[in-house]
Amino acid sequence: MQYLSTRGSAPALDFEGATLTGLASDGGLYLPREWPRLSEAEIRELRGLSYADLAVRIMRPFVAGSLADDELEALCHAVYDDFGHAAVTPLAQLNETHWLLELFHGPTLAFKDVALQMLGQLFETFLARRDQRLTIVGATSGDTGSAAINAVAGRERVEIFMLHPLDRVSDVQRRQMTTVRAPNVHNIAIRGSFDDAQRHVKRMFADEAVTGTLRIGAVNSINWARLMAQVVYYFASALQFGAPDRAVAYSVPTGNFGDVFAGYVAAQMGLPIERLVVATNVNDILHRALKDGDYSAGETTATITPSMDIQVSSNFERLLFDCGGRDGAALAEQMRGFDENRSMPLTNSQREGAARLFTSARADQDDTARALQWAYRKAGQVIDPHTGVGLHAALHADGIAPGTPIVTLATAHPAKFRDAVERATGVRPALPARVGDLFGREEHFAELGGDYEATRDYVLENAAGSGR
Ligand SMILES: *Cc1c(COP(=O)(O)O)cnc(C)c1O
Repeated sequence: MQYLSTRGSAPALDFEGATLTGLASDGGLYLPREWPRLSEAEIRELRGLSYADLAVRIMRPFVAGSLADDELEALCHAVYDDFGHAAVTPLAQLNETHWLLELFHGPTLAFKDVALQMLGQLFETFLARRDQRLTIVGATSGDTGSAAINAVAGRERVEIFMLHPLDRVSDVQRRQMTTVRAPNVHNIAIRGSFDDAQRHVKRMFADEAVTGTLRIGAVNSINWARLMAQVVYYFASALQFGAPDRAVAYSVPTGNFGDVFAGYVAAQMGLPIERLVVATNVNDILHRALKDGDYSAGETTATITPSMDIQVSSNFERLLFDCGGRDGAALAEQMRGFDENRSMPLTNSQREGAARLFTSARADQDDTARALQWAYRKAGQVIDPHTGVGLHAALHADGIAPGTPIVTLATAHPAKFRDAVERATGVRPALPARVGDLFGREEHFAELGGDYEATRDYVLENAAGSGR
């Protein structure tokens, strides 16, 4: 499979190249040249497969030319055969219409594990083939950092430097990063905000003192391989409802538009998805864009759903490209306008294309708390606040045919955000046994001041990959 940049001028790459590159050299994001289509008969044949075998069938066309069938099978079984839950992403019923798709059974209790565990394996495979090493540098406000660290800890060819803002992530999130003991894992707490940490990282990618000595890479959700891995659980759940003979609607708590875009990909592949509900918190740029065609960024507001406190959703560009006629030059122009004005109108074809599958809703703090209370009182389920935003949108979604099951993606385990859950429901969720003695383990991290040079020098001094 060949991958094209959404901005039209970067070279097309194969799957291996797109995985190792992340962001395209023209600033765009990689997408497959065409969507592989499964016929109804082919979808029917997927019923009853294990999650790992289903993953092989869904990913095979996307990795063609870069991974042989036996390599892909070995990777999928290594990642998904032992994932904390036998079904990997089990469904839980709330009432006759509403369901949860539990995506939090991985090692760090959020859905990002499902894809990042696969990305860690892919990095190792491709780097071994090229006899190269990779130094991942990232900034996190919580979930991405812990999932990425857990995905690469102990690997030979990858090392990771993860920056987090000192005292501004939850204790569970911090401990899931700082208690991982492996020589290739480096945690840095910055005295400053998440934005400061993010700025340091961006600067390192453009600093020759760094790029001249290290091959540095990123793990954020612009990486196509992550989206590909997320397509699998849409198939896994829809098959249980009777796909391809019955359609399903999904409500997806959304930040960077990665998780919900994977649902769009599943639909392009032939899975009957009746509707994708984009659920946002008060940082609602996507809700406004889908409702009014106005994509304009405001100030970020801190909420009880920090993983969705995002103003600019990188992966939305992939949808605009695909719905807008796949015209890279025109999209590059449109995105330049956005970078200048922090605002842009969508074209008619983008609006109409998006409206065929997507709808949206926004939940403020009270809406979210009420959704948590509803789940607990009406269905006996304690859910996390991100899932609560999704459930609020699911309960208020219109335009979904009666009788269609509505599945809310449960993106984090409630224990990960137990303070907010306790405030809303009175219940303090316990950490599951598989995270073990998280609060008994020793923490290790470097504490640095807010200046860029201190961070850069720390990375250069501690990187094993120096000299490439
Ligand atoms: C990252 C994250 C999201 C948002 O996912 P996107 O793919 O960025 O839209 C939602 N919920 C939780 C718990 C997350 O960690």
